[in-house]
Order: sequence, then structure tokens, then C-alpha cells
Amino acid sequence: THSLLHIQHLSTYFDTDEGTVKAVDDISLHVRPGEIVCIVGESGCGKSITALSVMGLIEAPTGRIADGIIDFDGQNLLSLSKNHLRSIRGNDIAMIFQEPMSSLNPVITIGEQMSEPLIIHKKMNKKQAQKRVLELITQVGISRPEQIAKSYPHELSGGMLQRIMIAIAISCDPKLLIADEPTTALDVTIQAQILDMLREFRSQSDMSILLITHDLGVVAEMADYVVVMYSGKIVEEGEVVELFANPRHPYTQGLLRSKPIINQRQKELYSIPGYVPNPLELQESCYFHERCEHCMDICRTQEPPLRDVENGQKTACWLYEKEAAVHV
Ligand code: SF4
Ligand code: MG
Repeated sequence: THSLLHIQHLSTYFDTDEGTVKAVDDISLHVRPGEIVCIVGESGCGKSITALSVMGLIEAPTGRIADGIIDFDGQNLLSLSKNHLRSIRGNDIAMIFQEPMSSLNPVITIGEQMSEPLIIHKKMNKKQAQKRVLELITQVGISRPEQIAKSYPHELSGGMLQRIMIAIAISCDPKLLIADEPTTALDVTIQAQILDMLREFRSQSDMSILLITHDLGVVAEMADYVVVMYSGKIVEEGEVVELFANPRHPYTQGLLRSKPIINQRQKELYSIPGYVPNPLELQESCYFHERCEHCMDICRTQEPPLRDVENGQKTACWLYEKEAAVHV
């Protein structure tokens, strides 16, 4: 199948007074129609920056896309004008964040905020939009839609607001939904309901989802395909069943050592000893080497390439040199 989203060799850098941070460093990934791809990793690994890069939300002058192609439905998003990109964003590509409050205007009613994209992208008139808003509110499992439409964001709970964000996101029938830690701030029960809902929308509409999370329970429940990031790089990727059964990269193995318990929220992802390296001090090496119990000489001086190992799984680790050679 063709890709809906094909990120190729994306690098996103931030220029700081101390130097350049390679927040995303030469990553490539596919999302196919109807597929749920999860990017997993600890905070600062580059997963959110990847999402913001796709959305065209990297802010100059500090942030910049240094290299790459973001092919969405046959066009390179990086070569589009600001206006063209804006017309895709919120329409063909929608995004939801961890904190719904940050995307909602506190002084405008929910109903009005939900109408706006329908009027702009779907060319509805006010009356049609209002009617659609009530349907959408019902669709995300909220009763008394009229009352909710008249409410202001602060009058609703976090779970309700996230449902509203999803309603806004799906209102224009996006081909791709990017969700950055959409349930992290919610309690376990609400989290499960929201994830169920996202899966259901995916199966009804063939919408693809790029889901960003640090939570392996969420990955286990949602993902078709998993991409593991560390220090701005993809260190391992594969089909979810394969990757959970056979994690090869020592980082992924560490992540999975604290087995995810489905429906139980995890505060801490895992406890691999050591710290993520300072992004300003990265040198040619495996960036995980200081935390890796299998570290060899080569790991300190050469970066392992991401290579096919088996069953479509890819791993960037010198331990698998022999396997990789067989599969090139
Ligand atoms: Fe560990 Fe070396 Fe593999 Fe990096 S390349 S994960 S240091 S064994
Ligand atoms: Mg983040």
C-alpha cells in the first residue's frame, strides 16, 4: 500500500546560544492509510518535534527544518506556501495535544470554536455549522450537546475538553490525525474511553493516526506499527506484535522490561539507569552507549545505522551487525 505520510530524512534543529540542538536527526517513517503508528520515547527524544515539523509549527528563528522531505498525500509539505499549509492543517491533517486548554480560546464558547473550522474548511454557513457541532458533540460521547455548545472551556472537565478537541479534529474528516500524548493528563478510565473512541473513528473512516506517547500501555493498545526514538534518532521500529515479542535494541528492551499494564497509567516509563546525553555534546557514537550494558568499543566511536534485521523490524545497534548483513 502507498503511504499517506512519508517522512524522509527529516532533520529539525534548534539554534541556541550554546550551539545547535539536533532535536530530530535524519529520521524517516511511513504512515499508511488507516494505520496507527506510535512514536514512543522519553521526553526530549524528538517525538513531539517530529509532529510539530509535520504540522509546519517549527518556529523560526530558533527552530528550523534543516533537511528532509515530508510527503503528505503526494505533496512535499516543506515546499508549500504558508497559506497552502494552513489549508491542509486542521483539514486534511488535524492535531490534538496533551493540554486541550492550550488550543482553546478561554473567552469563546465551545460551540463557536467548533463552528469555525467547519465554516472555513467545509464552507458551511453558520446555521449548518451549528447543527453539525451538536452532532459532533454527541459523536464524541457527550450528552446534552446544546448546553455544552454554550459553555466556555473552563466550565468543562479535562476529559470533556479532550473529547471536544477530538470532535474539532475529526470535524473536517482529516486523513491524518496527529495526537501528542492525548490521554497523558487524564485518569485511567477516561483515557481508555478516549483511546477506544480514536480507534473507532479510525475504523469508521480509514483515518490514519500518528500517536505520540511515552506510555507503552497506550502503544500496546493502539499501535499497528511502532517507532522508538532516542536522542533525536529512530533506534528501532517494527510491527507492534513483533517489536513487543522481540525487542532487539537494548533501549527498547529496557523500555519493555517494565511490562506495560494495559489500562493502568504509568507515571514512569521505565528505569534504565543513567541519563539522556546532553544534545549539545553529542559525538559520533551510539547515543545510548553510556546507558547500555552491552556497550562495545565500536559503540563509542561510530553511530550504528538503522537496518533491517528480521520480519521488517529495523534496529540501530552494533549487536546485530551479522543479522543485518544477511538481510540487506
Ligand atoms: Fe548498546 Fe552498542 Fe547497541 Fe548502542 S550500538 S545499543 S551501545 S550495543
Ligand atoms: Mg512531548
